[in-house]
Amino acid sequence: MEDRAGARPSPSSPRRSPDAPFPVCVLRWPCGRGPWAGWWASRGLARMTGAPQPVRVLRAHTRDAQIRLSALDASPLWDGVRRSHPHLDPGACACLTELLCATALLQSRSLFSERLQMLIKGAGKARAVVADSWPDGTIRGVLDSGVPEAAEWVLAPGVLKVMRSNPTGQPYVGNLPLVEGGIQAQTEHYLQNSEQVQASVTLWCDLGTGEAGGLLVEPLPDCPPARLARLIQALDGLEVVPFWERTPEFLAAWIAQGQGSDEVAVTEVFYRCRCSRATLLDTLSGFSEEQKADLFVEPGLVEVRCDYCGQRYPIALEDLRKGDA
Ligand SMILES: [Zn+2]
Repeated sequence: MEDRAGARPSPSSPRRSPDAPFPVCVLRWPCGRGPWAGWWASRGLARMTGAPQPVRVLRAHTRDAQIRLSALDASPLWDGVRRSHPHLDPGACACLTELLCATALLQSRSLFSERLQMLIKGAGKARAVVADSWPDGTIRGVLDSGVPEAAEWVLAPGVLKVMRSNPTGQPYVGNLPLVEGGIQAQTEHYLQNSEQVQASVTLWCDLGTGEAGGLLVEPLPDCPPARLARLIQALDGLEVVPFWERTPEFLAAWIAQGQGSDEVAVTEVFYRCRCSRATLLDTLSGFSEEQKADLFVEPGLVEVRCDYCGQRYPIALEDLRKGDA
């Protein structure tokens, strides 16, 4: 369970877990296609108590038509991360929540018409952080711990991958070396270098209160220097605004600076997983006999745990033979 990065589409050896009566196997099974197949992992339906709360992602432009923006209040994402990853400490949860925020902000640029995945692999306290956002409003993520004594969660050297995919056409993959700074710096660097967009990204997550959110601001190419200067002033001034006050509407008004803004779209997203016993069995059934033997090294059940939501699936070798869902 402690060694979950460097994911492979092959089973790891079953291990004893103190709270499980049978061997626990932490296994990533690939659900993605294309460049990330084999790296990518899919995990189950979140069986959380109560329905997850929606996160509202606002896409708007200022009425002077000089600035586009996206904003979200992501406190429910923090809740989803905490419930789905009880083994992670608050700092790790904040790192993952921030990547989820960045992913939702990027996805709002296409009005959630695509699936968008962000992956950071680095040398910090996080070895890998993944966020996966879908057009239906499903968003989920994984964090693999790295170097505990590192100064930051996200630290170069490393790589940022951004994959945008839709049902038609080839996925677009951006691949960039990590730069100095946290997730907001990585996201700005991606927008500038892969999308040729000058943008400012601000992300926050309070470990104590779980107040989290993000703001993406894109001045349009013909934005006059005076307006740009006022925008920078507004962004700097955001520091004094408490997190609880930073609703999407407040942020839009803050950036519009009295001139008003027009809403383009509001999208609700939820921290939810997409795994199921059926997809797990389907994947495991595709394993070679050797891989299956490796997985079911002891008689009885093997428990496969979803990295995204923590759901545990007890699986017997017979289940694979039956193809039983
Ligand atoms: Zn799951």
